[in-house]
Formats: sequence, C-alpha cells, structure tokens
Amino acid sequence: MVERHVLGLSGGKDSAALAIYMRENFPELNIEYFFTDTGKELPEVYTFLGKLEGFLGKPILRLNPQRGFDFWLKEYNHFLPSPQTRWCTRQLKLLPFENWVKPMLAQGDTVFSYVAIRADESYREGYSSTNSNLKIVLPFREAGIDKEAVKDILEGSGVGWPEYYKWRSRSGCTFCFFQQKIEWIGLLERHPEEFQKAKDYEKDAIEHGSPFTWSKGESLSELEKPERIAQIKKDYERRMEREKQRRPVNPLRPQESYVDIDDLYYEDEGGGSCNICHK
Ligand code: SF4
Repeated sequence: MVERHVLGLSGGKDSAALAIYMRENFPELNIEYFFTDTGKELPEVYTFLGKLEGFLGKPILRLNPQRGFDFWLKEYNHFLPSPQTRWCTRQLKLLPFENWVKPMLAQGDTVFSYVAIRADESYREGYSSTNSNLKIVLPFREAGIDKEAVKDILEGSGVGWPEYYKWRSRSGCTFCFFQQKIEWIGLLERHPEEFQKAKDYEKDAIEHGSPFTWSKGESLSELEKPERIAQIKKDYERRMEREKQRRPVNPLRPQESYVDIDDLYYEDEGGGSCNICHK
C-alpha cells in the first residue's frame, strides 16, 4: 500500500497553475499528472499541454475514455449534452478518472487528488469523494491563491496562458454548451470547420427530437447570421465595459486587476460552468 498523488489537468489555466505551483513548492511529491481527453478538444489544448510537460519535466498521462463522444451521443438518443444532462462530464471526464484510480484504491493505496479550486471561489459540488482512501486536496484554497495569483504563477513560470483564452474561457472542449455566444463566434472565426461540425451535431440532435441547442435559445445557424454576430459582439463589449467599471480596483495591485470572458458568465446566456473540467 502506497500513497499516490494525482493532479488532473483540464487544459485550462487554474489546473495548469496548480501543477506549476506544486512542482515549485512541493518538488518532493511524485505527482502523476493526467488529462482526460474527450476526443473533442481544441487543438490549442494539446499545444498547451506540451508546453506544460516541458515545464514539469514529465509527461502528462492521457486518459482516454473507452468509448468516445459519438458513442455516448447515440446512447443518449442524439441529445446534445446540456446543463440538465451533462453526460459528457460523466462519461468522458469522470468515468475515465474513476477507472484509472479504481485499481489503486482496490489495492489499498491512498490517493491524494489535487484540485484547483481557488481561494476566491466557493467550494462547489463535483469533487466529493465516495472512497475514504481518495483524498481531495485544495492547495490554492489552503494557500489563499486567487485569480490574480494564478495569473502570476502562469506568467512567472514562462508557461503563460492557453492560447484559446484570447477568445474563450474555461473549457477546451470544442463543443462545450457552457460557451457564451461570443465564444461560439470565436469558434466560428478561428475554427470554422469545428463550428461546422457543431452545427452538424446540432442538426442531427434536433432531427432526433432533442429540445437542446448548443447555445440557449437559438441554433448555431441563427447565431452565425451576420446581423446576429454584430449584435452579440456589441452586447459583449457593453458587458465587458460594465464589468470593468463595476470592478473595484485592488489597492495592492491597481495595475493588475483584469477582466476576462470568464467574468461575464451570466444566466441569461445559459451561463454556468462545468466544475470538473473548467479549471
Ligand atoms: S467542458 Fe463542457 S463539454 Fe467538456 S465535459 Fe465539461 S461540460 Fe462537457
């Protein structure tokens, strides 16, 4: 029976910063880094993981689900994953992790799983463990590391930001339904072939009676119309400006308070997040 230390990378900024933080502050721990690959990730995710591997000096284990997105889509009657039925997280993120740690726990190992919940976030569902030998550790909360500190860690290490943060926040899953409308437009503009695939999935879902479109209240075909794009961009800029005005200046870091797409999630757009993979 041994102790294992595991840290899941999502391709996003918080888990990357946590890996860097652990490497720098707890080099004595033999941490096993892993990435649960949905098979529907943005190409930027793999580039970023490669950069991170360079910094960490070890490979990030890829955990591939036995059955991919298309299999599960059929199992769920062609209904797109949605906040109500988040089968993608369950089948493509959680299950591969559970299958990976199961033999460790079965042989009596204690598994410490490091999770990047920041000090400025509330502890949300999704990380509770049902096995007493699987211990969830939240180092950022313990050390008071907030969003600004995550930025410092990423930039200070030289690893920097995932490239997709220029137009997208949180998730590297290409088709994540938690995307804001402005992010769908980002996908259309940067990865038009992926946007087309998303449209095809949506069309197929609607034909099979799915009540869900990827984006709340409209199909991607409606969203990609030029006048609608212009409207969404205008709305995004207005919200961004409002958020900047609203944001109190941090007297300790007056220059550094920053607002990004991540700050603009709101319920009207079906805002929310995947607590498992948006880290
Ligand atoms: S990031 Fe989005 S698409 Fe990916 S598993 Fe989580 S909820 Fe599903």
